[in-house]
This record gives sequence, C-alpha cells and structure tokens, in this order.
Amino acid sequence: MTATVLVVDDIEPNRRLLQAKLEAKYYTVFLAENGERAIESAVRLQPDIILLDVMMPGMDGYEVCRRLKNMPQTKHIPIVMVTALVNIEDRLKGLQSGADDFLSKPVDDFGLFTRLETQMRFNMVANELRVRGKRNAPVTHFSDYEKELINAPSNVLVIDQDNAEARRVSAALTTMGHTAVSWRDASEGKIEFRDLDLVILALSGQDHDALKLCAHLRTLKEARDFSILVTYQSSDQTQALEALRLGAADLISAPLELAELQVRVRTQTQRQRYIDVLRHRVDRGMELSVIDPLTGLFNRRHMLERMQVWMRRSREDEPSLTVVAFDIDYFKSINDRFGHEAGDDVLRAFSERLRMNIRPKDIACRVGGEEFLVIMPETEMELALKGAERIRRAIASEPFVNERTGQAIDVTVSAGVASHQGQSELLADLLHRADRALYQAKQNGRNRIENLAA
Ligand SMILES: [Mg+2]
Repeated sequence: MTATVLVVDDIEPNRRLLQAKLEAKYYTVFLAENGERAIESAVRLQPDIILLDVMMPGMDGYEVCRRLKNMPQTKHIPIVMVTALVNIEDRLKGLQSGADDFLSKPVDDFGLFTRLETQMRFNMVANELRVRGKRNAPVTHFSDYEKELINAPSNVLVIDQDNAEARRVSAALTTMGHTAVSWRDASEGKIEFRDLDLVILALSGQDHDALKLCAHLRTLKEARDFSILVTYQSSDQTQALEALRLGAADLISAPLELAELQVRVRTQTQRQRYIDVLRHRVDRGMELSVIDPLTGLFNRRHMLERMQVWMRRSREDEPSLTVVAFDIDYFKSINDRFGHEAGDDVLRAFSERLRMNIRPKDIACRVGGEEFLVIMPETEMELALKGAERIRRAIASEPFVNERTGQAIDVTVSAGVASHQGQSELLADLLHRADRALYQAKQNGRNRIENLAA
C-alpha cells in the first residue's frame, strides 16, 4: 500500500533518514523544515499522512497540529507526532492538539511502517466512503449529533487470559470514562458484539491461538461495527504483523502504558464511529435514490440501471437476461371499492409476496402505479416462466387481508415475459416486448402469464 507522506522536522539528517526509509518502501515523500512550511505544504500537496516532529524552533509540533486540525482543507489528514519525549504529559498535550498517533525517536522501522499501514488502511476506507457519499451530503461537515456520536466514550471488551492484566486495563479505561469489561467477567452474561466499539486482544502469552481468534472475530456479522486493537510483546512482532494482515486495526506493545492506551482507544473509537457515520450517510443516500418509498422495492431508475448492467454482461454462450413485467388485475376497481389507502396496503402486501417468491439474485422493482418488473439475470425463458408462475400462484392463492380493516381482498396478477435477444437489442425494445406479452395476458383473461414467440 503506497502513499504520500509529508515529513516535518527541523533537523536535516532526521528528514533525510525518514525520507530514505520511506522511499525504500515506495512511499512518495515531501519534506518541510518548519511549521509554516509544513502548513503550506499540507494545504497544497494534500499528503495522505503527516509525520510531525514535536520539538522545533518557532512554531512547535503541537501548534502545527492544532492549526492543521482546525483547517477544513487539512483536518482529515492523519498526523503522527514524532517525539523523543515519552512522558505522559507530553503525549496528552499531543492528544489535545489533535494528533492521531505517536512515534518515539529514534524511529524504528517496525513502529514506522505499522503506524503508516494502520493510518493508510483507515484513509482508504474513509476516502472510499467520502467519494461514494459525496453526491448526497458534504462530508467535511458533521452535525452536532454526528460529532457527539463520534466523540462519545468507547465500549470495550478486553480479551486476555491474564485476568489480572485484563482487569487492570478495563479499570484504567473505566477511569478514562469508557465502558470496559474483560472477557472472563463478560462471559457471565452474553456479549453483544453489535454494541462494541473496540476489542483489545492480547496476542502474547495466551494458551489459545490469538491470531485464530482475531481472524474469527473478523468473520462475525457484527465485525464492521467494532475494531480490534492487538497488544503484543516485542518478541512477537512477526505475529503482530500477521494480526494486522488478518484485520486488526492497530497494534500496541506490551506492557501497556496507560497514556498510549488512551490515545489508541480514543483514535480507534473515533475512527470506527467516523466510518459508521459516513457509511450511514452512504446507505441513506443510496436508499433515497434507488428505493421506492411505498413498497421498499427498487424504483424505476434503479431498474433501468440494473438492466443496462446485465444487458452489457450477457454473452452469447450464457443464459440470457430475462425480465417479467407484472400488472395487478383490476387494480383501479380495488381503489374504487376500498379506497386509496387500502389500495396502498394492497401494493405493499403484493410487494411483500413478490419479494418472498423470487430468488436471491432476482431484482424486484416497482415501475409505477400497479406495475412491477422482476429482472432475472442469467435466466432462460423456461426457468423465468416457472418463476413467474410461482409468483402468480402466490398472489392468487389467498386473499389479501387488510390488517387495519380486516377486509379480505382477492387479488390476481398478469405477467409478460421477455428474454434479451443479444447485444443488438436495446433496453427499450426488451421492455416493449415484455409489455406486449403482458397485454396479451390481459387480453387472454388475466391471472395468467404470456410470452411472445421470439
Ligand atoms: Mg526537532
């Protein structure tokens, strides 16, 4: 994974050393020798990451960090503070100025590249979501609610067979305002992974295979709701790297220094929430643009988009794309007799039965009014006719009982089926043939399915 890195340090040999290390791993490197230059370069070059020296004459690293995190053009860029200072106050000062991470001088390769790797991984996910979300909402601006969500305390599970250590870490996190529980204490009750933000997983000195557990946690269906922070002894660096590869979000070396723990927990939790907020925006935006609000089926716009995709993909030697156009019989009289509200209820219940009777790969859409269309990718006519027949029967088999009024309404549906005739056929032609078949089904007495001879 390559990236552009802005290295900020007042001492030239320090800059050159980091540059050599980074370029050896194919990172693109920019250099700045003081705070003013650093800010100017960050705005202009938009690096993926900034490695920022703390001790510099003039504007120090804390001040540079604070300024960068307060400017809309640069506040999303991760900043790793590089410092010879190791005491807690200094780290806390860095935290308060908005730093995302720390590296101690002299910088060792393992620390450097794991810091970059974890930052880059976050960048990739966030950028992807920012791009996808862009059409729907500005992504540099967060509502008060979103900000509160992002900054709220973390819900942490500590997994370490050394129960005394697990409790020490949990207690420290609780003191910092988070909710934390050790695996053993939690096992009394049931662990809700969905509610977790973070799992702190000890890698070294465990009887079980912690790497296997790490991989397993990533396969849980709630996995995208929490991050994994792995703790390791320096003798287990190789396994620690493997844990990153298996999906751990970050590493922290044992014995855990509480100030560092605080930084990592805060950063990981904020990132997890930040991603959640972006993802939620994308999902919501997607929903608005492709879902029919009354029935929850896909809308006409999405239908056309998916048909285009499947028509492009269809090849001579593969089963064709087939579409089934449905139209509820005598829908107008249902509206006339029972009212529009009952009519809407029928549309919803119809959609539900439709959804229950298609295959996972079929795409059910509401075209408008009482017209529906099911896209059946890679499906020959014969199979599509069977599928359409199953749906017709599911609709006609029992009346639709209105939950509000208790009224039972008999509903039937007619359908027309058409298969894509190959690359030269246009989308409009395919839809037109399905419509003509549907018209024939209506002419021939309704509650039936027709297809036109090709
Ligand atoms: Mg310096």
